[in-house]
Amino acid sequence: MPARRLDGKALAAEMRTEIAAAIAARTALGKRPPGLTVVLVGDNPASHSYVRNKQKACTEVGIRSTLHHLPTDTSEAELLSLLASLNADPSVHGILVQLPLPPQIREDAVIEAVGTLKDVDCFHPENVGRLAAGIPRYYPCTPYGVIHLIRRNGIELAGKDVVVVGRSNIVGKPLALMLMQKPTKQNPTGCDATVTVAHTRTPDLAGVCRRADVLIAAAGKTGLITADMVKPGAVVVDVGTNPGPNGKLVGDVEPGVEDVAGWLSPVPGGVGPMTITLLLDNTVRAAELIDG
Ligand code: NAP
Repeated sequence: MPARRLDGKALAAEMRTEIAAAIAARTALGKRPPGLTVVLVGDNPASHSYVRNKQKACTEVGIRSTLHHLPTDTSEAELLSLLASLNADPSVHGILVQLPLPPQIREDAVIEAVGTLKDVDCFHPENVGRLAAGIPRYYPCTPYGVIHLIRRNGIELAGKDVVVVGRSNIVGKPLALMLMQKPTKQNPTGCDATVTVAHTRTPDLAGVCRRADVLIAAAGKTGLITADMVKPGAVVVDVGTNPGPNGKLVGDVEPGVEDVAGWLSPVPGGVGPMTITLLLDNTVRAAELIDG
């Protein structure tokens, strides 16, 4: 029997309806609608497309979105100065700087220049530290999207063997943290899973993956996960978005995995729509933190 589909598109639509209702309830109380400011530097076509999708999603749920599009030759000082003014602007709740940045701008300096209350990506070291300590302010969008995609399909994570392939600051590392944590009042998202993180120096990647009840592929390598690497009936989440034939996106998981896995997320239509949805959710949270 082919794997059941972890349908991120459908779940994202359901969650966006809930987010829109939460925003309408806030505005009915006379509160300002949440505001997200996106900063885009340069003309990377993929970044343009991500930003367009994020802005469209904001409009659909009632978030005010503003775009600052800066030229490719913007200096680091100019970008930091813009971020300082956005941090000081009370009408801005969330700030998102679209990555990657041109080479003259240090990514670390920019991440640290976003005010911690407005850091809806949850990339600032203070917010990453809070996440690691189990006292999160925000949850990072893609990892949070993966966890929602699993849980809201009724799949239990507590006590499961979860293998995460990839250890980046954006996906693998924070996802592993969230999966292994104990759920508490301050950190209700803790998953109580037993987590293994694999990377390019992991010997016998296939053997490690085969142990997984839940396998999360976040390596950015087309076809990395093949059917023989998957335990029959396992839950497989494909975070990868890689350029495929005819301009289409493909994941890290080979099509044959569908015949072995119990659940599988498609690319596109799996984790991607969830990431944007959790950005919307974080922007509402930013409005709650800043405006009450
Ligand atoms: P990244 O920064 O390049 O990190 C990739 C990670 O995968 C690294 O830790 C790397 O190991 C590991 N890796 C690469 N090749 C491997 C291999 N052959 N065997 C084992 N481990 C391997 O990428 P990222 O930003 O985390 O993104 C990963 C993928 O997710 C990309 O395709 C990206 O486009 C996609 N993504 C999707 C969304 C979404 O919303 N759908 C969001 C973010 C990212 P080392 O540390 O040893 O180098």
